[in-house]
Amino acid sequence: MSEVRRFWGWGFEGEGVGRAEQLDLASLVAPLVGGAELEVIEPPTAAELDLRSPRLVPPDPIAGWCRTDDVTRAGHTYGKSFRDVVRALDRDWSRPPDVVAFPADEAGVVATLDWAVDAGAVVIPYGGGSSVVGGVEAPEGDDRPVVSLDLGRLDAVLEIDRASRAARVQAGVLGPALEAQLRPHDLTLRHYPQSFEVSSLGGWIATRSGGHFATLHTHIDDFVESIRAVTPQGVWSSRRLPGSGAGPSPDRLLLGSEGILGVITEAWMRLQDRPVFRSSAVGRFATFEAGAAAARALGQSGLWPSNCRLLDATEALITGAGNGQLHLLLVAFESADHPVDAAMARAVELVADLGGTLDVRTPREPAAAAGGTSADAADAWRATFLRAPYLRDALVGVGLLNETFETAITWDRFDALGENNLARDLAEVTTWTIVLSVLLHGLTSGPLAARYGRRLSRAPADTPELASVAPNRVRKRSL
Ligand SMILES: Cc1cc2nc3c(=O)[nH]c(=O)nc-3n(C[C@H](O)[C@H](O)[C@H](O)COP(=O)(O)OP(=O)(O)OC[C@H]3O[C@@H](n4cnc5c(N)ncnc54)[C@H](O)[C@@H]3O)c2cc1C
Repeated sequence: MSEVRRFWGWGFEGEGVGRAEQLDLASLVAPLVGGAELEVIEPPTAAELDLRSPRLVPPDPIAGWCRTDDVTRAGHTYGKSFRDVVRALDRDWSRPPDVVAFPADEAGVVATLDWAVDAGAVVIPYGGGSSVVGGVEAPEGDDRPVVSLDLGRLDAVLEIDRASRAARVQAGVLGPALEAQLRPHDLTLRHYPQSFEVSSLGGWIATRSGGHFATLHTHIDDFVESIRAVTPQGVWSSRRLPGSGAGPSPDRLLLGSEGILGVITEAWMRLQDRPVFRSSAVGRFATFEAGAAAARALGQSGLWPSNCRLLDATEALITGAGNGQLHLLLVAFESADHPVDAAMARAVELVADLGGTLDVRTPREPAAAAGGTSADAADAWRATFLRAPYLRDALVGVGLLNETFETAITWDRFDALGENNLARDLAEVTTWTIVLSVLLHGLTSGPLAARYGRRLSRAPADTPELASVAPNRVRKRSL
């Protein structure tokens, strides 16, 4: 895989959706907008960048770990939301950082901060840069020079406590590099936000990221034992304890702080043994509500499924997991210690009590042998899920709005959360909308429902049904 990060959008140069596939994609969706020509917006090239000159010159030795070239500064100007990609495709580089610093260690972080404070500069910690809320962007209406402080070189697992199953990890490590360093010890953090490929431990802590465990360890908070950070008052660290009831948790100050209290440099993280026993299943439901009832029963059962994710029929269709007619509930259990068949058997009973069925894929059953059943559905959905950010950029590049909206809601109000509300709101600002719904996370007291609105750039003569697109065409293109 290429090591060069794309400066205008998601991921790495040469990865994701190539031009031929993007054109295929445009021709696939063109019929949905009344046969409109969807033109490809050429992504910006390094050669055409012409950013304002840096307003700061770092002194030695700090200059040794700073860069001020246009490509590096453009790549640190925005996060990775739809809005960010649009501005990059629009060649809007009006607020780039003046300097991007890449310190190699905590002393370098301290030196960079000391210099920046003296220079009257704004400092923005930068982990993977996958923020979707403008978190790594220079503040608007603020004339101070800006230093983007990229933690990417602080990327090592420093210490492993095998007995306690914990590790001291530097904050700039990205997801894959972290797991690669833990694997030889048969350990894993098992924290998988969709942005895993290009998001960092420090970013996860600073944003309180959610991984994809449906129950129990859903948020990064659950894995943090202690945190170390460089603050304007000096280096700060919380005490490493297995647990504490002594007053408010100091870690909670830093968790979700989005970089405003200091720069997280490392953390002790609780780890897990790598799972050995697994079981997964797919339930199929005629209505989303019936699937949600099953998800609630499983979430509140005390069985603690590792996956319990309801895809609506359209999401299932375009991820190649289903045929567009039925809503799918993906269920999984895992353990490093014991077989999980009993938990799955009880899950099957619970769903059956609600009038549904779960097709169980037996542990380690080869995907091909499962012949179009649960294995295929879950695997197809997972593959598309991980590739989705590249696809999102390709769709933005042909003029389509494609974004995720998330709502956390308690079960007692779930029924009132109709897809129609979002569709209605989007209809006010867009010409044509598909709303895809997914229900995930923390299902005991209520779900996090993610909805993806897709806006096509032109109003169609007749609004077509997505289901009228041949499923195999959609699947082939991994939409
Ligand atoms: C396609 C896509 C999918 C996503 N999926 C998920 C998901 O499944 N779950 C989820 O929770 N989020 C998700 N996100 C949002 C984003 O990936 C998370 O918020 C992630 O935790 C950010 O990590 P990062 O390293 O990229 O942080 P950055 O984007 O670099 O920074 C985010 C914020 O944290 C601050 N920060 C970063 N590092 C540090 C540090 N070391 N010390 C102090 N402050 C710091 C930054 O200043 C900024 O305010 C997704 C985003 C995209 C684009």
